[in-house]
Amino acid sequence: METLQEPLLETANHIVEIVARQKAFFKTYKTLDISFRLQKLKDLQKAILRHEEAIFQALEKDFRKSTFETFATEIALILDEIKIMLENVKLWAKPQAVRGSWLLFPSASYLYPEPYGTVLVIGAWNYPLQLTLLPAIGAIAAGNTVIIKPSELSANTSAIIKTIVAEVFDPAHVCVIEGGVNETQALLKERFDKIFFTGSTAVGKIVAKAAAEYLTPVTLELGGKSPCIVDEDADLEVTARRIVWGKFVNAGQTCVAPDYVLAHRKIRSMLILKMSKYITEFYGENPQNSPDYPRIINQRHFERLKKYLSSGKIVKGGQIDEQERFIAPTILDDVTWESEVMQEEIFGPILPVIEFSDLEKLIEELQYKEKPLACYYFGKTENKQEYVLEHLAFGGACINDTVMHTANPNLPFGGVGNSGQGGYHGKFSFDTFTHYKSVVKKPFWLDVPLRYPPYKGKLNLLRSVIKWI
Ligand code: NAD
Repeated sequence: METLQEPLLETANHIVEIVARQKAFFKTYKTLDISFRLQKLKDLQKAILRHEEAIFQALEKDFRKSTFETFATEIALILDEIKIMLENVKLWAKPQAVRGSWLLFPSASYLYPEPYGTVLVIGAWNYPLQLTLLPAIGAIAAGNTVIIKPSELSANTSAIIKTIVAEVFDPAHVCVIEGGVNETQALLKERFDKIFFTGSTAVGKIVAKAAAEYLTPVTLELGGKSPCIVDEDADLEVTARRIVWGKFVNAGQTCVAPDYVLAHRKIRSMLILKMSKYITEFYGENPQNSPDYPRIINQRHFERLKKYLSSGKIVKGGQIDEQERFIAPTILDDVTWESEVMQEEIFGPILPVIEFSDLEKLIEELQYKEKPLACYYFGKTENKQEYVLEHLAFGGACINDTVMHTANPNLPFGGVGNSGQGGYHGKFSFDTFTHYKSVVKKPFWLDVPLRYPPYKGKLNLLRSVIKWI
């Protein structure tokens, strides 16, 4: 486990200054003005559209992500989130009346939404635009000031995020601090009102420890090994297509990608055949030539993934090109729970398949593993679907699909246990960056004496009042 290091002096001074400026800006109450928040979100929307071409180029340079995938999995989600905020923030930011209690008669009870203050958003590199801007949009909509720290591994995207944010916001309101471990650790020494982190479980623990120093609330969006169970009665054609898409989109570098497949004994061979067929259909005979297939983000991850190729029998793919950091979409058969590829989150284009024959026994075994970010079950029988949903712990799930649950802003996106804590998207984002103050309002005209001492003779009366309520 890494510990906090001394930050570079220059960076540390800049960070101290920018945090102080943001705190001072928050105290001017400017962000409490809903029209100010809406205007800034509209400006951000325009800036993203203005820089669309530069965003495409940045992601292409970072890991050869295609224009289609950049639009579908980054830009479209961000524009949708801004739209949701523009349509709803006025209502969400208002105090809400809640049911009262007879014990408090006469009174009215409310929830008063209050922005936390100055928020730190730390992002991962695999969907570098949306993993930083999506939470930032929620934080801005809720009235916070925000410091965004994108991942240094996707440096071209990090630079374009900085340009966009600098064009739209006063840095005392929202700003980007670029950099890696040193810069993040310097940021973590500061006192924030909320920290939102996306990344690995190991770094999530570093963030949580640093946050504990000031009791800063954290949302942790982490990873894990998300299982994909395919039962004997699944429609194998559709199943294979949806698994191949969910696993190999972004070359497997997706936190909610199916990490491994658990295939029923009766359909394992057929499923492997069909998944192999769809890999060829999607990416061609030689996926290295496909314009739609990204590369591994850096050499360290390439080396890590290369080792996994000997964890089982390669039944599809397996080709690599070190120069380009290319690893073909690969299916591994003859894998066991003890194989190296089954010990850590894969986070790359390698899909191990393990056979099972009894669903209940399988679920029992999975229960003892760390709680994953996602879980997928393919099968037609409703009570088996419910069995899986009820007996396994996970962040989110799809029945008969992969990844797509993250695309509904009416569902919170987040993990549980080792895969994270808290959630966001849509209203859940607003709530993630909001403290709800509990407020009771009372008039002066009635002051029931029951609660005041001396209590002698009042206990029975209190009991009867409570019974009556
Ligand atoms: P990472 O944890 O290495 O890095 C994430 C961020 O933390 C980066 O901004 C990085 O600069 C910073 N960081 C790295 N090491 C640090 C340290 N020692 N101290 C302080 N800060 C440090 O993660 P990654 O490689 O960027 O992303 C991959 C991981 O993120 C995978 O586990 C994946 O599942 C997970 N992930 C989760 C989600 C989600 O929404 N739940 C989304 C994407 C990725």
